[in-house]
Amino acid sequence: MIPSFNAKSNDFQGYVDAKNYIAGEWQSPLTSRETLDVLNPRHGKAIAKVTLGGRDDVDAAVKAAEAAFPAWRKVPIRDRAAVFYALRGLMMKNIEELSWLVSHENGKIFSEAKAEVEKAIECIEFGCSLPNLAAGSQLEVSRGVRCEVVYEPLGVVAGIVPFNFPCMVPFWMLPQAIVGGNTFVLKPSERVPLTMMRIAELMREAGLPNGVFNIVNGGREVVEAICDHEKIKAVGFVGSTKVAKLVYGRASAEGKRALCLGGAKNHLIVVPDADVAVTADNVVASFTGGTGQRCMAASVLVAVGDCEHVIDAIRERAAKMVTGTDMGPVTTEAAATRIKGYIDGAEKAGAKVILDGRAADPVKGGFWVGPTIIDHATTDMPAAREEIFGPVLTIVRVANLDRAIEIENANPYGNASCIYTTSGDIAQRVMQRVEAGMCGVNVGVPVPREPFGFGGWNDSLFGHGNMTGWDGYLFWTRQRKITSKWALQKDQNWMS
Ligand code: NAD
Repeated sequence: MIPSFNAKSNDFQGYVDAKNYIAGEWQSPLTSRETLDVLNPRHGKAIAKVTLGGRDDVDAAVKAAEAAFPAWRKVPIRDRAAVFYALRGLMMKNIEELSWLVSHENGKIFSEAKAEVEKAIECIEFGCSLPNLAAGSQLEVSRGVRCEVVYEPLGVVAGIVPFNFPCMVPFWMLPQAIVGGNTFVLKPSERVPLTMMRIAELMREAGLPNGVFNIVNGGREVVEAICDHEKIKAVGFVGSTKVAKLVYGRASAEGKRALCLGGAKNHLIVVPDADVAVTADNVVASFTGGTGQRCMAASVLVAVGDCEHVIDAIRERAAKMVTGTDMGPVTTEAAATRIKGYIDGAEKAGAKVILDGRAADPVKGGFWVGPTIIDHATTDMPAAREEIFGPVLTIVRVANLDRAIEIENANPYGNASCIYTTSGDIAQRVMQRVEAGMCGVNVGVPVPREPFGFGGWNDSLFGHGNMTGWDGYLFWTRQRKITSKWALQKDQNWMS
């Protein structure tokens, strides 16, 4: 049994070591491999340890999931959803504890951690609505002949998730997959394996039968074993583009369904008529939220024409942020070094750092970078081209809207894009032309909320469809098409 996490503040607190969860049992990996520290990034100290699993652990989890599948698929969808209703209640009841656990293992501040758990709950609510949405369809396609479509589970399926949302991203997959009748193997990020352990306990309490949900901790070896395992029918992945491509290629080559969400480089376009206060608040929230470690974070601000007044307001607003209070640390020391490298590089290449977070150090030992704005960047600078994944806004100035759209379109990613304007005409022109799957008009983090599906374009998503919403249900199920003819009797009989 995994105990509650008792932290009630940012003060350092240790927790139990990560374990695999297989067939309802907490287990250490079957053969001992590398053990890593699970670091609290605010303090730079280990709160727990995680031992990386391997192929044998994946195989054990798959066997447990396979054994649980026949009974779980027979449970009516309404009763499968009822487990998620119960889980929703338990997560609401324990929301403070779960939020502190997210905050301690990931580093994000408590209010952001709580918002993350709330968003996971919203995903569960969508799963609870599936019995009302998932009715198939039926039609008499010719005289006496009916075609019917019903949604069937795939069997054992798996999810591989990143460090930046230890609670929310697993719930982009779990409700649709499990309410859909599948059994699941989750591989959390080895940097944040603790929150989902606690939630596994809540799932058990909610009535989920053993083996329906399993956890295998690990890194590359576990991911590759998931891609290769013949009994796993579908893989959902969220993480960097490099790994998304690898997982998509490897899982697809094994004949699995794969939907792999990758990295991002989101462009926000600002024109001179933008509402200054709304834009400043919004842009700052977008590039500093989650310490910039969000695939939906603002990364490049493309300022069209004379936007000095808007840029001043953004700088002023961001300069008021207190690192450590309004914004958490980044995930690792290496991440802090990488992010500062981008800032140094842009400065050396001639850009101006108009807000500098490189010296931020509110809690000794933690991994800190404060809000940073790089102005007068050029499009060839790595800071303007590559995913930085930290609280850095890079400003590129251009003369007109066409050039702004051209720059946005030239970046290989396609997660999010946004326009700040008070003109409907400009908004429409940008919305019709940017190469991004999730677009915002005066909204800097244009996450489509349930029931709409989350998913980008181009190098931000490999596969078909979106990860959340109804598309998620379609991904984790297959359609059985039944054609029936019951007008078999040639003669009249007692029923005539
Ligand atoms: P990551 O790609 O390093 O890790 C993601 C998962 O892949 C982890 O579970 C990790 O253990 C595993 N992994 C890492 N390297 C691997 C390898 N070589 N082979 C096989 N598996 C490997 O990503 P991260 O650092 O945890 O998360 C940040 C990235 O995720 C960013 O690029 C961010 O944009 C992206 N992200 C995207 C979305 C989205 O919806 N598109 C959402 C959240 C995060």
